[in-house]
Amino acid sequence: MELHIRHLSKTYANGVKALDDVSLTIPRGMFGLLGPNGAGKSTLMRTIATLQEADGGSIRLGELDVLRDKMSVRRSLGYLPQEFGVYPKISAYDMLEHVAVLKGIGSGRKAMVEELLRRVNLWDVRKKALGGFSGGMKQRFGIAQALIGDPRLIIVDEPTAGLDPGERNRFYNLLSEIGEQVIVILSTHIVEDVKELCSQMAIIDKGRVLFAGSPSDALDGVRHRVWSSTVPKDRLQDLTARLPVISTRMVAGKPLIHVYGEQAPEEGFREVEADLEDVYFAHIKGFTQAVMA
Ligand code: ADP
Repeated sequence: MELHIRHLSKTYANGVKALDDVSLTIPRGMFGLLGPNGAGKSTLMRTIATLQEADGGSIRLGELDVLRDKMSVRRSLGYLPQEFGVYPKISAYDMLEHVAVLKGIGSGRKAMVEELLRRVNLWDVRKKALGGFSGGMKQRFGIAQALIGDPRLIIVDEPTAGLDPGERNRFYNLLSEIGEQVIVILSTHIVEDVKELCSQMAIIDKGRVLFAGSPSDALDGVRHRVWSSTVPKDRLQDLTARLPVISTRMVAGKPLIHVYGEQAPEEGFREVEADLEDVYFAHIKGFTQAVMA
């Protein structure tokens, strides 16, 4: 089963075009939707989750028409929103049970709740109030509630923001385990999330899809086109104005810049192996289009 998004568009009342003719095919496994803040990721996630309307286009989940057959989609869907609110005084166990009741789970509910608490590694703290949970524990609880009812499609919106590296790793492991069986869409502005987890990905910005494919296709697209040099600080401004600079970071107190192009931009630059970060910024800054045109 695949999720097919075709020509999806959405313009908000204030005139912001949040989705501009978005088409994507999303297979089973982990799919990374990468884009900066304001790119349109949440709008797309919320539309797939049947929480808001599109202006035009279509979404199909297997045989289901997502934009029309909302109730059926909701039964097949697990959603972990960006701002996942919890009732602070309720225990993890009671809250999960409550969500299961709301989702219409009757028989087998107790076993399901217990299995999920074990799966997300919250069994030992199941009787603790959610208000005392760390960010990582809250996110794992969020995944447990999203998994109720055996969804075929799981959407997680910016899930690793605010997690420390250990928590983030545990969360990655949990997600990749889940991604073996169902479609998981992970929206994020953190390139690392996609690199670690996703077999397919898309880069979006200003409501448009700039790239869709596997991370290795993405890397192939910029191969032999990333050049690097450390430069004196006082030349940085001039270089940034003149050259297609992908990124600048400080290494041992000196700026190291990556520049996009078919050949070395000037003397002193050497070709480097591109990573996903280079791909991302080359697309977001429009350099890849300029070369293709
Ligand atoms: P992302 O999740 O990638 O940060 P969003 O989908 O939240 O992006 O937002 C895309 C664009 O739409 C942004 O410019 C944002 O300001 C705008 N936007 C989002 N929600 C609304 C809304 N309810 N009304 C008006 N504009 C909105």
